[in-house]
Amino acid sequence: MEKICKQCGDKFLIRKEDKIFLENNKIPEPTLCVDCREQRRIVHGNHIYLYKRKCDLTEKEIISNYHPDAPHKVYDQNVWYSDKWDPMDFGREYDFSKTFFEQFKELSLAVPRPSLHRGFQYDENSDYTNYAGKNKDCYMIFDSDENRECYYSYSINSSENCMDCYRVRGSQLCYEATDCEKCYNSAFLQDCVNCSDSYFLQNCVSCKNCIMCSNLRNKQYCVNNVQVSKEEYEKQKAKCFSRKDITSGNKYFNSFKLKFPKKSIHGIQNENVVGDYLSGCKNAYYCFDSASLWDCSYIFQGFNPLKNCMDIQECGDAELLYETAFSGYGAYNLKFCSHSLGTSSDMEYCIHSQHASNLFGCIGIQHKKYCILNKQYSEKEYKELVPKIIEQMKKDGEYGEFFPADMSPFAYNETIAQIQYPLTKQEALKRGYTWREENKEEFKPATYNPPNTIQEVKDAVLEELLKCETSGRNYKIIKAELDLLRKLNMPLPTECFFERNKRRSAMRNKRKLYDRKCAKNGEDIITTYSPGDPAIVYCEDCYLAETY
Ligand SMILES: [Zn+2]
Ligand SMILES: [Zn+2]
Repeated sequence: MEKICKQCGDKFLIRKEDKIFLENNKIPEPTLCVDCREQRRIVHGNHIYLYKRKCDLTEKEIISNYHPDAPHKVYDQNVWYSDKWDPMDFGREYDFSKTFFEQFKELSLAVPRPSLHRGFQYDENSDYTNYAGKNKDCYMIFDSDENRECYYSYSINSSENCMDCYRVRGSQLCYEATDCEKCYNSAFLQDCVNCSDSYFLQNCVSCKNCIMCSNLRNKQYCVNNVQVSKEEYEKQKAKCFSRKDITSGNKYFNSFKLKFPKKSIHGIQNENVVGDYLSGCKNAYYCFDSASLWDCSYIFQGFNPLKNCMDIQECGDAELLYETAFSGYGAYNLKFCSHSLGTSSDMEYCIHSQHASNLFGCIGIQHKKYCILNKQYSEKEYKELVPKIIEQMKKDGEYGEFFPADMSPFAYNETIAQIQYPLTKQEALKRGYTWREENKEEFKPATYNPPNTIQEVKDAVLEELLKCETSGRNYKIIKAELDLLRKLNMPLPTECFFERNKRRSAMRNKRKLYDRKCAKNGEDIITTYSPGDPAIVYCEDCYLAETY
């Protein structure tokens, strides 16, 4: 059935399968299109911007993704998870003279939030990380788990000595790698698996000592997709480490790789899927950047089996979730929840609540049952009151909708939404989001300009102030980063992390699907390569025939 999105006015489809899921779970039909639904969820998380501020309980200086000016109370994670405060103290009676969202907004401004969203109990020396866990000696990595000595990266897992990477797993000594797996001692790789000692590769598998190649399998000593001698490889390799060479290398690579066909979908071991950047998924519709999905639709960054879920942002190890974000690890039957980790079940409209069940409209509750607006009820009372609240919410047009834009604790441009769905300040404000203005007058002149090679850099650089050539923001070089850049033989960055991260994200296809024809056999394909994209796109069969 076709509907019109309440926010952007675009047409969107509710499929037969969606209808069955919604009916089975007694959820009204969505009123926003898929993109607007995703946008509304992601603005509730700030992954990459960190601030120094005070813990509102201990007054200690802490690192948090809540700006010091945010209206919310913020407690250091250690304190937030301790018994030094009780979220039930903020409990309140449900008031039928007000809407649910009005009351929930009041509660959300009263109950303290944890300073960060990371598995701090398992982290070692990784204070500047977020949406992350089990990391050791890491700095400025986000949405990333189980890494060692990794820096300035987004969505990397089980990796070591990597820097400036984006969605990389099981890799070591990689620099500027995007969507790669099991790669080693390489730089400027995209969509590669099991490659080592290589530079400027795309869509290569099990290649070694290769430079400037695309679509190769099991090759050694190739340059420009041509077999060369070891000596020639070494000669070309010497041209991969100065900034000038890297800049011209990237420029050449960008036009070189257009000559090679691309597979219509990034990913492997999928069955009956529509979407992109998927692996090990079965029956997944309109899903992106996800692994191990089963019977799911409209999932973004799902992981670690996700079963029978719809409209999800960054959840994993969970079943039967709807319109939920940044949650999982043992969750079952959550609707309209965010930041709720750990075994939880049967919760609706909850934030930061875990190891709990049968909660409605709660914030920060753990190990409890039958609570509404952080107030304890008996099972009988709970089961009588919740349907009445849902009834009222339906009349107010609230039930079925995720938390509204103005309830996000973060400014639109602090969130990944600004990368996925960029808006101008005016557009963001018009839609009810907030905006955080950077004070450009605070930017200072650089005390140091990064030289062409890492060999020219002295340790004294650690005391210098650099200036991003794109944004004008100041940034510094840390000791661990300098050590790794020396090991990788790579020059100092000339942009701040935020611009580097944005650039890597822009190298990937957007979460949007188009109908195209396979450039080889004319088969219909659904792909993230837009019809205007100059890429040569093949269906899976034609691509496999070409590359193996
Ligand atoms: Zn829309
Ligand atoms: Zn084809």
